[in-house]
Amino acid sequence: MHCPFCGTHDTKVTDSRLVADGDQVRRRRQCAACGERFTTYETAELVMPRVIKADGSREVFDETKLRAGMLRALEKRPVSAESIEAAVERMRQRLRAKGEREIESREVGEEVMRALKRLDQVAYIRFASVYRRFQDIDEFRAEIDRLAQEPHFPPNDDH
Ligand SMILES: [Zn+2]
Repeated sequence: MHCPFCGTHDTKVTDSRLVADGDQVRRRRQCAACGERFTTYETAELVMPRVIKADGSREVFDETKLRAGMLRALEKRPVSAESIEAAVERMRQRLRAKGEREIESREVGEEVMRALKRLDQVAYIRFASVYRRFQDIDEFRAEIDRLAQEPHFPPNDDH
């Protein structure tokens, strides 16, 4: 870390502590060259990546929109609000964990499908039929067959 006073690289940490309920690390540093002291704060970057739409335009990640899409698919399904919120949070974490500044809207859609698949098969099929724009009943049936073949979703398990 450069000294902000003289620009030398040689600074040392004299004290380090957690602040803001552990969300930040505050470090006291001292420059080995000029002896000046200064403080730095380190915070995890929690910024969501921006979303690249199909037409190439960018937009900020919109959690409200994401949740609304899920809720539409989950309408009248036996899934608790808590499970939905936990799924939204997992999705946020997974998208952040990609470490990209920008992600394709397709990746967001795939995350939603993945989350819905775990929450509720009917909601998953509802969402997938719109998202993947199933052209006909055969595509629809193929997706249901795929779903039925997944080991942790046995076809006879109707909850
Ligand atoms: Zn200095």
